Parts: sequence; C-alpha cells; structure tokens
Amino acid sequence: MTTPCPHCGATTIAFTPSDADFGAVVRALANGSKTLAAGEYKWFAQCTDAEATAWVAHLLHCAHAWPQAEADEAVLAQVEAAFAGVGKPAHFTNRSHCDECRTHDDTLRARTRATLRRSDLGNAGWDPITFSSADGIGYFFPNLARFALLPDVWPDHSWYADQLLSHLAWDGADNRFLAWCTPVQRSAVHALLAHIAATRGDVAVHHACEDALQAALTVWQAPSGQPPQPGAHGAPPPTTA
Ligand SMILES: [Zn+2]
Ligand SMILES: [Zn+2]
Repeated sequence: MTTPCPHCGATTIAFTPSDADFGAVVRALANGSKTLAAGEYKWFAQCTDAEATAWVAHLLHCAHAWPQAEADEAVLAQVEAAFAGVGKPAHFTNRSHCDECRTHDDTLRARTRATLRRSDLGNAGWDPITFSSADGIGYFFPNLARFALLPDVWPDHSWYADQLLSHLAWDGADNRFLAWCTPVQRSAVHALLAHIAATRGDVAVHHACEDALQAALTVWQAPSGQPPQPGAHGAPPPTTA
C-alpha cells in the first residue's frame, strides 16, 4: 500500500520501521550508501527495490518524512507557531543583482514550506539562504529548523545545522534576521539553539561548529528584563534599510 506524504505529496510505501530498524537505515545513509539504506528498508518492509528506493529518496528530500523525538517536536512546534503568520514573499533575493542571486531566487520561489528539500539549501559555498531577504528566511524558518535537527545523512550535502548556525551567528548583534524577528520569534529561535546545544552539542563539536553555536546563542539570548511579548507579525517591519 502506498500513501502520499501530507507535506510534499511524494507517494511512498506506507510502512514505518521500528526505531531500531529506522536506526539501521539512518546508519547506512550516514555511511554514504543510499543503496544499502534501501536494502535495509526493503528487508524490513518486504517491499520491492523500487518501493525501497522511493522511500529512501523521500527521506532524503523531505524533513517531514522523519520521525522526531518528542523534545524535538516541542521546539519545532514553538518555531512553527512563532513563524506561522509569515507569508511567502514574491521574491527572495535581489534577482537583478547577478546570475547567482537570480538562480537562488528561482530555487526558493519554486518551493513552499511543504516542498522545500535539503538539496535546495545547498552548502556553505552555494547557499540560497545567504542571499535571501529576512522575509524569505522567516517564511522558510520552520523548514530550516526541521532540517537542522536531522542527522548528517545526505550524500552530497553536510549537516544542515552547520549552515543554519552560521546564518544565525552572522554579524553578531547586527544580525539582519534578528532585527527582523519579533520578540516571540526571537524566543523560538533561541529555544531551537538551546535545544541543539542540549541535544547535539557533541555533533556540533564533531562538525567544528561549536563556536558558531555559542555565538548564535549569545546573539539570540533574550535581553534581561524584557520578556517576550505575544503576537507575531506576518509582514516585514516598516523600517527596511
Ligand atoms: Zn514529504
Ligand atoms: Zn548577486
């Protein structure tokens, strides 16, 4: 039996492996073999090669395909609530600036919160989010948070948290996305960072991005004596530089 993903619409076989079996699939991916991962899944699901390959492809594309630990879901729910009102901007980059900006704009405009893929987010040297407006980052932030909590399993891309941390730490207190966010959104971003530090600090050390994690935590720390105010905006602030 196949079923469409309620998020991206990809049709895959409706069999979810046990935690231990899922772990075996993820280990095969982390070791760099999609073929081995599909082989593991085929064994567990007793399905065809094509069904197993499609299931693994969906896992690599769609952050919603992953089972999340309860603590992960709690922080993702906080992020999703804080950014729920942010609409998709007509454009993400200043597309007339250069070919790269136009390409990144095309990539991001072609996606939604339901369909954004890990491969769309590139790598540190080719990262559309670097060129996106803060409106665009706000629109996709729930996706970025979800990808950041996934393990390092992509054959052609690095651990996503590494890229996200560099965006959140960039420019320190002058971070443009920090300036754009409401207090509620800032709290949600800080909660995500604190969650990464608490649950994935060793992974950050392994990927040599623990300094970026600490820097981002400092940047997004709520100012003392100013508790977050309720009410998230869905539009950019009136002052744009
Ligand atoms: Zn999906
Ligand atoms: Zn450009």
